Amino acid sequence: MSRPCVHADAISPVPPPASGCETCLEIGDTWVHLRQCLTCGRTLCCDDSPNRHMSRHARADGHLIMRTAEPDEDWVFCFGDDALVRETATGGWEAFDWYVEEGLEAATAHLSAGGSLDDAALATAHEELAQWVGHVRAKHATGALDAADASAIEALPGWTW
Ligand SMILES: [Zn+2]
Ligand SMILES: [Zn+2]
Ligand SMILES: [Zn+2]
Repeated sequence: MSRPCVHADAISPVPPPASGCETCLEIGDTWVHLRQCLTCGRTLCCDDSPNRHMSRHARADGHLIMRTAEPDEDWVFCFGDDALVRETATGGWEAFDWYVEEGLEAATAHLSAGGSLDDAALATAHEELAQWVGHVRAKHATGALDAADASAIEALPGWTW
């Protein structure tokens, strides 16, 4: 379900994020969402923003780990893994596939509520889950799906690739 993030040594204690993208404010531009670098603490803008200052910063300065600086969100992302990362019980960090894990939970809940993973039924009964099924099948077909994720998905009653 996850693999160790080898970049997490670069995480340092940082102050609370700023209320704007530091670089956009300098050049008088605007942003969509804010991210904070967990190495140097700079607050910069996301990839939906015109300037994408956080991912530029990651490429230019090699600071690979950032967190959301949006008040209603709580997640950490590693550019080195191109995945969300989280702290483990033993104090390390691991990269995980958020979308795969959320979908597995939704599929399990759907099944225990008497639902079926049958394609036709799912397409009308649970559109989001139908999209997830398509996503993980496509990922599996290209060999990009994590092996542990694949076996967890295969364990779902009635699952077919
Ligand atoms: Zn990493
Ligand atoms: Zn910016
Ligand atoms: Zn930084």
